[in-house]
Amino acid sequence: MSVSDPVATLQTLIRCPSVTPAEGGALKALEAMLTPLGFSVERMVASEPGTPDVENLYARLGTEGPHLMFAGHTDVVPPGDEASWSHPPFAAEIDGDQLFGRGAVDMKGGIACFVSAVARHIESHGAPKGSISFLITGDEEGPSVNGTEKLLRWAAEKGERWDACLVGEPTNPDYLGDMIKIGRRGSVSGRVTVLGLQGHAAYPHLADNPVRGLLPLASALMGEPFDAGTPEFPASNLEVTSIDVGNPATNVIPGKAGFAFNIRFNDTWTAETVKAEIVRRLDEAAASGSLRPGRDAVRYEIVWAERPSHVFLTRNNGLIASLTGAVEEVTGRTPALSTTGGTSDARFIKDYCPVVEFGLVGQTMHMVDERVALADLETLTQIYGTFLSRWFANALLS
Ligand SMILES: [Zn+2]
Repeated sequence: MSVSDPVATLQTLIRCPSVTPAEGGALKALEAMLTPLGFSVERMVASEPGTPDVENLYARLGTEGPHLMFAGHTDVVPPGDEASWSHPPFAAEIDGDQLFGRGAVDMKGGIACFVSAVARHIESHGAPKGSISFLITGDEEGPSVNGTEKLLRWAAEKGERWDACLVGEPTNPDYLGDMIKIGRRGSVSGRVTVLGLQGHAAYPHLADNPVRGLLPLASALMGEPFDAGTPEFPASNLEVTSIDVGNPATNVIPGKAGFAFNIRFNDTWTAETVKAEIVRRLDEAAASGSLRPGRDAVRYEIVWAERPSHVFLTRNNGLIASLTGAVEEVTGRTPALSTTGGTSDARFIKDYCPVVEFGLVGQTMHMVDERVALADLETLTQIYGTFLSRWFANALLS
């Protein structure tokens, strides 16, 4: 097998059943591809009490700067009901112009294309003046506690420094070349419990209905927009995701009621300021007495979910222009620079170097019959190869 062929490279990776947290042979296969290209490869096992150990991989070619990192994950989500797949999820079968398998687009496909791009670059230009590294985790689709965050810290403690990073997650909504992600919104979740007094629905003055307290609190969070958005980010948005009373009796006023929420926020906030704004709104609504005239302020408790995701925006012209230029040169499309969608491991990488994300078309990710067009694998390999040339040329000049 030649690693300059992204189709063969991807087939090898898909045939390793690496459902989080299993390594499944995927990192071993990647090591076997990178070592002959001249990379020094290290496998790092991360542990945390209460979670399974996870294998990760760090590989570097070169010892000098400038240093470009490619980041991604070999773990995949479970296939679900295998019988509903038209081709077995770990067989990597080709049917017509499509390659089928779990991880085809999210994101063994991105890794395969980058491996092939590096192999071709070395074939035609020799090793770059500078360094290329792969930072590959086996814990992105799971709890993400034994993955990229620990791997970055481990590498940085050994003295590794990077000038830029490309994450190969599927970023394109419809066509290859649609979209580069240059940032991500932050995410904070919490749960509010409103404390009342249980009683008879026919004697409400003897009770304190927490539902009357809850509704204005939930409205206060979803009512006024948090902001109007920025040129780079959509408006921050909060959704109440659950309202829980759990009261089966219609003639009993419950003693407690609760709701959960999640906010996706832009860079006009930090996790800390957005939490403070949420508490301010809750306190104001709790004191207002709407639905509970004449009563004391609503008593409530709030519990924040652990580990909020911090918002970030990359403003690095060398990196963004190299990638945009490569996409335009290969596809003729001008990619949108976007900050939409959920969080990704880029939220950890941004603390070490500027980071952007570009990979395959995401339409079938996590679905039954996840698949990728063979033509897209070749095109993405060419985009990554062109990006490599452009990025190193630019970084060596500056
Ligand atoms: Zn992914």
